Amino acid sequence: MFIANWKMNGSESMLTGWLEGVDKTLDKNTQSECILCPPACFLFQASKIIKKQELGIALGAQDIDPKTASSLTGGIGGSMLKELGCEYVIIGHSERRELFKEDDSLLLEKLKSAFFANLKVIFCVGESFEEKEKGRTLNVLKKQLEIIYQVPLNNLMIAYEPVWAIGSGETAEVKYIKEVHNKIIEEIKSHEKGNFLGVVYGGSINSSSSKEILSLQEVDGLLIGGSSLEHKEFSNIAMSINEKKG
Ligand code: PEP
Repeated sequence: MFIANWKMNGSESMLTGWLEGVDKTLDKNTQSECILCPPACFLFQASKIIKKQELGIALGAQDIDPKTASSLTGGIGGSMLKELGCEYVIIGHSERRELFKEDDSLLLEKLKSAFFANLKVIFCVGESFEEKEKGRTLNVLKKQLEIIYQVPLNNLMIAYEPVWAIGSGETAEVKYIKEVHNKIIEEIKSHEKGNFLGVVYGGSINSSSSKEILSLQEVDGLLIGGSSLEHKEFSNIAMSINEKKG
């Protein structure tokens, strides 16, 4: 599973080239699912291209608003995302947790919104540098995961993204990722979730670092920010899956 999180980047022309480029490369070379999460304003166009050209790329939204009937100016609800062709939605990204102060109660409403629209959830968790240094990583993650058990999600994927690794050029060490992913898997399985889609890693991934991280059995894919913007680099990262064993 490879998720391209474009964040607030992209344009109509970039979108067309990216979709065609990735589809062409991956079609012949890899079996793994690729999910494009462009800014909301490009979802319609992306969906149209994917359908028309029958591309093997899934579509995801970077955010969703809570289901508060229709009284939310600027809001985009789950059913709207579904109508736009989204299969996935990212919830709990650290940039939104930090900048927009998205807390557990808001994230819970977003999870419910995704559930009612039957969207697959990519739920992001991760510790800050300070929390890591204090040895609090596992406690922080356990706490962040608590709200997901309150919603009977049909399809849930966890994205482990250490906050200090996002956009910093520094990925977490492989040994560290292995330990954390194992704990997340243990934690989720102890709560018997519906369809658990696995744990992906995110944080400064590029085509040089992807292979080693993907070689871990505990890593089911990658969430890629900066390196997903260029279709060749994203395809190269996705093709690292071909060397994954087991
Ligand atoms: C992200 O935004 O989720 C992310 C992992 O970004 P980057 O790859 O740029 O660190």
